[in-house]
Amino acid sequence: QTTPAGDTPKPILQLVGVRKTFGGFNAVEGIDLDVREGEFLTIVGPSGSGKTTLLRMLAGMDTPTEGNITLHGELINDMPPNKRPTCLVFQSLALFPHKSVGENIAFPLKVKGVDAATRKARALELMRVVRLPENYYDKNVMKCSGGERQRVALARAFAYDPQVLFFDEPLSALDYKLKKALEKELKDLHRETGKTFIYITHSLEEAMVMSDRIGVMRAGRLVQVGTPEEIYGAPVDRFVSEFVGEVNTIKVKRGTDGTWDGVDVPGRFTVRPPQDGATLDEAFVVIRPEYMRFLGPGDTAENRIEGTVYNEYSLGSRIQYQIRVGSGAGEKVMLVELSRSRALPPGADRAVTLGWDAADAFTLGS
Ligand code: ATP
Repeated sequence: QTTPAGDTPKPILQLVGVRKTFGGFNAVEGIDLDVREGEFLTIVGPSGSGKTTLLRMLAGMDTPTEGNITLHGELINDMPPNKRPTCLVFQSLALFPHKSVGENIAFPLKVKGVDAATRKARALELMRVVRLPENYYDKNVMKCSGGERQRVALARAFAYDPQVLFFDEPLSALDYKLKKALEKELKDLHRETGKTFIYITHSLEEAMVMSDRIGVMRAGRLVQVGTPEEIYGAPVDRFVSEFVGEVNTIKVKRGTDGTWDGVDVPGRFTVRPPQDGATLDEAFVVIRPEYMRFLGPGDTAENRIEGTVYNEYSLGSRIQYQIRVGSGAGEKVMLVELSRSRALPPGADRAVTLGWDAADAFTLGS
């Protein structure tokens, strides 16, 4: 990510060697991270991987056991949440139930001692930003729908005029359609406001849609940080490759003639060198289902495997096939995903040849 002038934006938040221990257990460890000013950074990871612990330290609700967190170069490890120019938006929203939409949004301004007329004007302005109709100003917040309350909470967060907004799974309780709509709106809001957003979610789909960069956590560590394309297209290990999408993984051993021998799938394969330049004798070749294709007579591909279709699933505009390859104890299931227009004809011979090119796969050491 670069500015129009071509510079890398300076970090607003910087984490160096951050660790958090609970009773001898490292919930978070070895975190080094530069958060760039104005970026939308999403932290994803399985349950228990340390996302919330990391966010709590960033928001000031917890102090690191070790390491430093700086904001614009100032050490903030021990700075309480209300002293930080940051704001946290939760899943539960924590709105005042007996107050109106306008009062909820204007609350941070009231605390700051802003006069009533200015408060109202600013609240109405923020309602426009989050696309709440003006006549909602006096509406009781509990009479609003889930999505509307979400917008109230967002507008209130903006009323604090924070430099960084933290989001802790704010959309997870909403239905699918509303969630999809709000994902796009949040992304627009991020662009319009130019604020730094740090977002935590289980949902990789959410992360992919909204983020400039994604950080993937596993067992307390940040294992990869990159753009959605980097995370999906160049994962650093099998954990990341599997966490961010479906994969076909084949274990291979280096052969003598430049090709690699399949360990868990019979065959000899052409393999792209690992992206980290490692020299490996054993590796995993990972192919996303959409990069696998069916080969007809005369079709070529650098790699091929014979198999049998035993299941197909409709994914709407796409179809996914499950293919059995190998036999006996070495049998394995591979996935192929095609657009519906390229589906296998019904009743076709269920014996198929799968093909892929080395450049469309990645080679990982672990
Ligand atoms: P989820 O997605 O389920 O919310 P998470 O990735 O946010 O999970 P954390 O809540 O950060 O994970 O928890 C990381 C680990 O630290 C877990 O094993 C959790 O049990 C542990 N942990 C978190 N907070 C505490 C605490 N206050 N005391 C003891 N252990 C804790």
